[in-house]
Amino acid sequence: MGQFAVIGLGRFGAAASIELMKLGHSVLGVDTDSKAVNRHVDELTHAVIADVTDKQALEELGLDNYDVVLVAIGSDLQASLLCVVHLKGLGVKNIWVKATSHAQHLILSKIGVARIVHPEEEMGIRVAQLLSYPMVNDYISIGNGEFIVEIDIGEQLNGASVGSFVASSPSALHVLLIKRKAEVIVHPDDSFVLNAKDIMVLLGHLNTLKAIAPKLT
Ligand code: ADP
Repeated sequence: MGQFAVIGLGRFGAAASIELMKLGHSVLGVDTDSKAVNRHVDELTHAVIADVTDKQALEELGLDNYDVVLVAIGSDLQASLLCVVHLKGLGVKNIWVKATSHAQHLILSKIGVARIVHPEEEMGIRVAQLLSYPMVNDYISIGNGEFIVEIDIGEQLNGASVGSFVASSPSALHVLLIKRKAEVIVHPDDSFVLNAKDIMVLLGHLNTLKAIAPKLT
């Protein structure tokens, strides 16, 4: 279980905090706005009202004891930057920051913030990719062009075996698992027969996945 602090409980910060709680971590939420704090006080381990541009107030929160501090102040660029500078001054090692502009990204990287996230842009890219491959429910990029994708089997592959599906791929493709209703079949055998309603999780290179895409629509 990790200890996380999330500064700024707007839509992004609140969603990140609640998900971290669901994943079993402890979360301190901080916001200047009492309404934002009250809205989430029952959902988080702690939620406090504080202005993070005030170094003294930040120091009192003891943020250097946390595994990660996520700065999720969106619109107020000055407050976000000042908070990061104070956190660095207090010796907080692991800082993640939500950035909303190119200029903010540049400044944050110059002051040594390693993890800068751009939720709107990242989500836009993700939505575009999912739109262009509607059979893909979800995916993770694992680097070097390799992806893990979750797809619906559909009618085209109904009755086909895993072995024949893999053999029809022009290059290496790995069927990691099949979900059939509540059942999860890890590393199914080549003889496993697919059903239109199954969900399959595959590992492969983007080019391989693109090549097999017509079989899945
Ligand atoms: P989103 O787009 O994720 O909703 P916002 O910019 O609207 O992001 O929300 C950021 C949150 O950060 C708001 O709830 C705001 O009250 C909070 N916030 C802004 N400035 C400070 C500050 N100096 N100290 C603490 N919280 C702040």
